[in-house]
Amino acid sequence: MTAPQPLDDVIALLGAAAVERDPAALAAAGRDRSEGPIGAPEAVIRVCNLHDLRAVVGLAARAGAPLIPRIAGTNLSFPARGGWVIDLASMNRIVDLDERNRVAVLEPGVTFGQLGEVLAERRTGLTIGEPLAPSDTSIVATCLLDGQGSLSLRHGAMGEWLTGLEVVRADATLLRTGAWAAGAPPFARAPLPDLTGLFLSMQGSTGLVSKAAVRLWLAPAHHDRLFLFFFDRHDALRALGELARLDLLEDAGALFWPATRMLLGAERPADRDPAEPEVIAYCELGACDRDLLAAERSVLDRQLARLRRAGARFDGPIAAGDLAQVDPGLAKLARAPTRLDFLVRPGAAVTWISAYGPADTVGAACDAGIAVLADHGFPPLIVARPMRGGAGLLRFIEVFDAAADGERARVLACNQALCDVLRERGFVMYRMPGWAVDRYRAHLDPGFVRLIGEVKQLLDPGALLNPARWSLA
Ligand SMILES: Cc1cc2nc3c(=O)[nH]c(=O)nc-3n(C[C@H](O)[C@H](O)[C@H](O)COP(=O)(O)OP(=O)(O)OC[C@H]3O[C@@H](n4cnc5c(N)ncnc54)[C@H](O)[C@@H]3O)c2cc1C
Repeated sequence: MTAPQPLDDVIALLGAAAVERDPAALAAAGRDRSEGPIGAPEAVIRVCNLHDLRAVVGLAARAGAPLIPRIAGTNLSFPARGGWVIDLASMNRIVDLDERNRVAVLEPGVTFGQLGEVLAERRTGLTIGEPLAPSDTSIVATCLLDGQGSLSLRHGAMGEWLTGLEVVRADATLLRTGAWAAGAPPFARAPLPDLTGLFLSMQGSTGLVSKAAVRLWLAPAHHDRLFLFFFDRHDALRALGELARLDLLEDAGALFWPATRMLLGAERPADRDPAEPEVIAYCELGACDRDLLAAERSVLDRQLARLRRAGARFDGPIAAGDLAQVDPGLAKLARAPTRLDFLVRPGAAVTWISAYGPADTVGAACDAGIAVLADHGFPPLIVARPMRGGAGLLRFIEVFDAAADGERARVLACNQALCDVLRERGFVMYRMPGWAVDRYRAHLDPGFVRLIGEVKQLLDPGALLNPARWSLA
């Protein structure tokens, strides 16, 4: 008779259908969209509710099995071998939609598409800022990873939108943060000690979030989305920075020419036609009232005229409704939310380095990143966006064939070089994979490193929670 295996207890608890051990399925679960090392998990466990999540964490703690949380699986890191992938996609209840206090309490599997539909159906007049990611990505994961969305110019990185968390700790006990911890509705993180930060950007290595309270924002009743076609990226980046400083725009972004070409159907754009704009930028105005929107538009027009007088070369502004006349293929950009789902294609992997940095080095960081991409044989597939308080986001994207010989190594080398040149120019990566944490190690403040180690030791002494993340030992 063979000894009972820890997974037998999980099967007894959840049923065999919730525990995937088929080798092909495990091989698929060991991959995300990135260049990162492929994992070899022992099982994928589908969890649908808090009770089951806590029970599985308890069983994993007894068995010493590492846990890797996932929802859409765009950004995972695995231990060298083994581990249980906790699939939280079915734990997707919108637990509360508090319209008066403008807070949604969400389970980790709730996606941007799902909440967006509910907010629209109920005519709440509220919105959640959307990332450029496909609609099946998790709101909770994106906030926990300090992601960036369409309202980040107004409201900062998405981690700041969290007003409280419910967390399953490594010993399967629960805790709540923010005003929630005082028995109040989760309306804000202040004024208690802000323990939410212990779980932010820690990538699941300090606790598994079972519910997050997320701020909702008033959706302006009137919008104007305008497009500018720039022939020099420096003009585009400078213009976006200056427009952002007016405190006028709801959102703004720049898509470099390879992204536009891919939107129009090209698979791997290589060379730019000199007549083609280098960058298409969009600016979103929004107001509660038509007259206010018209006033905002005239301020924007004056600023654009000023930029032109100062030498910036661009065509436009072209209104969203007229974009299809430039090229029918561009019509997708006219609709909000903007999504880059056209970069995700069957048979092609897509990965990226995203970093936040100070506004005054965006141009230099962008130039350095373009040189790195070119050295590694990639076109400048780049997204740039201004953020609240003068910060900027740069995202360098590579589309590649993950199965081809040497491709993962080429992409990894490129991303490592990008990581370095961006860091040297004051940019900091978000959602750092393990290899990037290793590269940052020598540059991190020693007190910060020590405290991260102590926090992880306190919250996860058995190193079970997503152990390949923030491993600074
Ligand atoms: C084309 C494209 C465009 C994108 N554009 C943007 C963008 O504009 N802005 C942006 O921010 N991102 C963007 N992304 C990235 C993507 O949205 C993120 O990787 C996303 O934040 C992760 O969501 P996911 O559902 O895939 O999470 P997963 O990959 O399944 O999980 C990601 C990680 O989140 C953590 N995590 C997940 N659940 C929990 C939990 N319950 N408790 C604790 N930790 C947890 C873990 O570290 C886990 O490894 C883009 C992706 C693509 C493919």
